[in-house]
Amino acid sequence: MKLLQYPLQFLIISSIVILSGCSDRDSRSKNRDQFVRSLLGQMTLEEKIGQMTLYTSGWDVTGPVLNENYREDILAGRCGNLFNAQTVAYNRELQKMAVGQTRLKIPLLFGYDVIHGYKTIFPIPLAEACSWDLNMIRRSAQLAAREAASAGLNWAYAPMVDICRDPRWGRIAEGAGEDTYLGALIAAARTKGFQGDSLSDPLTLAACVKHFAAYGAPEAGRDYGTVDLSERTLREVYLPPYRAALEAGAASVMTSFNEIAGIPSTANRFLLKDLLRNEWKSDALVVTDYTSINEMVNHGYAADEKQAGELALSAGVDMDMQGGVYQNNLKKSVEEGVVAEKLIDEAVMRILRFKYDLGLFDDPYRYLDEEREKVNTFSNEMMEHSLSMARESIVLLKNTPVNGKRLLPLTMETGIIGLIGPLGDNPVDMLGTWHASGDPSRVTTVLKGLEKALPDCDIRSVKGCGTTGTDRSSLEEAVRIAQQSDIVILAVGESYDQSGEAASRSYLGLPGIQQEMVERVAATGTPVIVLLMAGRPLTIGWIADNVPAIVNAWHLGTRAGDAIADVLTGRYNPSGKLVVSFPRNVGQIPVYYSMKSTGRPMDPANQYTSKYLDTPNKPLYPFGYGLSYTTFKYSGITLNNSRIGMADTLKASVVVTNTGYRPGEETVQMYIRDLVGSVTRPVKELKGFEKILLKPGEEKEVVFTLTSDDLRFYTAEMKYAAEPGKFRILIGTSSEDCREAEFELTL
Ligand code: BGC
Repeated sequence: MKLLQYPLQFLIISSIVILSGCSDRDSRSKNRDQFVRSLLGQMTLEEKIGQMTLYTSGWDVTGPVLNENYREDILAGRCGNLFNAQTVAYNRELQKMAVGQTRLKIPLLFGYDVIHGYKTIFPIPLAEACSWDLNMIRRSAQLAAREAASAGLNWAYAPMVDICRDPRWGRIAEGAGEDTYLGALIAAARTKGFQGDSLSDPLTLAACVKHFAAYGAPEAGRDYGTVDLSERTLREVYLPPYRAALEAGAASVMTSFNEIAGIPSTANRFLLKDLLRNEWKSDALVVTDYTSINEMVNHGYAADEKQAGELALSAGVDMDMQGGVYQNNLKKSVEEGVVAEKLIDEAVMRILRFKYDLGLFDDPYRYLDEEREKVNTFSNEMMEHSLSMARESIVLLKNTPVNGKRLLPLTMETGIIGLIGPLGDNPVDMLGTWHASGDPSRVTTVLKGLEKALPDCDIRSVKGCGTTGTDRSSLEEAVRIAQQSDIVILAVGESYDQSGEAASRSYLGLPGIQQEMVERVAATGTPVIVLLMAGRPLTIGWIADNVPAIVNAWHLGTRAGDAIADVLTGRYNPSGKLVVSFPRNVGQIPVYYSMKSTGRPMDPANQYTSKYLDTPNKPLYPFGYGLSYTTFKYSGITLNNSRIGMADTLKASVVVTNTGYRPGEETVQMYIRDLVGSVTRPVKELKGFEKILLKPGEEKEVVFTLTSDDLRFYTAEMKYAAEPGKFRILIGTSSEDCREAEFELTL
């Protein structure tokens, strides 16, 4: 404990904490609150507002830099928190300013967007979700936290848990896809991974669940766009992942940029007071997104920034990210009596408690250890996990035989492989969006991975074209290489910055002239495998119709090329399943598996039913879909009962057999449909899944249990309850390929 630097009154209270040796949570939080209250009592109004202020550090070619004004602000106690400041050496200097040179010596908080890794980058979150492997996903967050915390950080702006059913929205890459049930489980797993067992452990980060709320549902998929949802849809589809993260202990929550039904989230009392504090009983710190208080002026919700700040504070926003609105206006608002200082005190208490829980008052330098930074950066464990996670994230979309033989896995040991496309030997795009301090020089590209895996093959690599633009200067060479090759791997898709924030797209085919290149190469007659790498599902109808093998590899991170080589050569049997539907074209969007039936469900024989004239209703590849190099057979469903009461448990089982020649993993999925409700219900809702490994010929019984709790929804009276009646249960290999049975829930 390095308490000597604090004023006497804190020392006394902290000593009580230590001497009493209280171990149970209640007395710890009592001591903490006493400490924090005493500190608050010493603070001027400006210092309080300083704790509510968060600014970004800048970045120069030589490393992080701090705006001169911020330096003055920190010294004067006007800025208590920074983000994008990193590395032990740099953060130590800043921390020294705060605890060495400010009146109250309150440590700074250091936040960062550790979305899918800090320096060692793991697959984008959308890709990781396709593993359906909660332990591995949790481990990703745990290891990312370890590497980042070792570099002087203590707060991650993650998990991002926004449900998204519109792949035009570039930030779909950062979430867990279209499904609420899976999204909530992943939200909890990632939160636990980041935070571990104790926030004060210098190898963990405090989580910040974002973006609260429904940021993933903007009109027309345009980032920052308007959201308008019924309260039922909000509660049923969008809110559960935020809540799951908070129930898993997420220490903070970030408000979203969007409005919902006319009220910007950053001043939304329903979200921040009624739900977060009252209904969910959460005491998590509330921080805004980047300048989202200021933006309420553009929303047309506040006349000026001062009023925007007043609205945000009154709604329950504790900390202002980057906007400087609190810093510039709150004092005046208090002096004028527009906001009560009590609200400021509540926010500051929460912020100080947050710092206390991180252990910063015990030792402001606890996250600042050069040796730890060295050992934990790019450690073998990080690099190994990056590879395993990347393999599990890959989804095999198509592998149909050509002349009786499938192209994958590659069986050739010699011969010529044409690796064609802008993503074939491209380190930076492997890192995907929000790749923090990811280092492209550590990335294995697809070319490097294949060269290592197939040392006796002659691998000829050419870009052919860019991910964007119309440069055709290497197109003819691409065609020539295709003609010379025994097989071609087309590495196509999106660059890292074509998904993520402010990267909405209205056309979801291959960008640039990649489609032209694909068609030219395919026309050579050399067998082609398409290796698709992107931050979102792309519309690949032509490829699906004309190319026999398609591997969807998203953006896989530092070990991308190794993981891809393992899958292409069959050293790893792919097991990923889509967590988001692949639309056939943009006109189908939103297309997702859990749609409603409508009064005129699609009937190909009847014109006056709900369908298009020019495209099917179903997506190209549905939620839950993904192939393996082996095959699985499902038995019918066995139910332990065809009727259950409200307090009973239903057991539904299937037997799954590996009918192929390789060991393989299968994610067995269980869906339900409530056939009649006081409000209409989706045609399918995921309610369970299990990932199993089967040797060739092996069979396993998979048993799912359901109770009436799993059948609850917001009824006509907005009660969260299960209604008696008939249900369909569907178990299978994807949302479109299931066995079915029925049961009844009785009162
Ligand atoms: C993003 C957030 C992010 C923040 C800080 C914003 O633009 O919307 O997700 O955490 O910047 O970098």
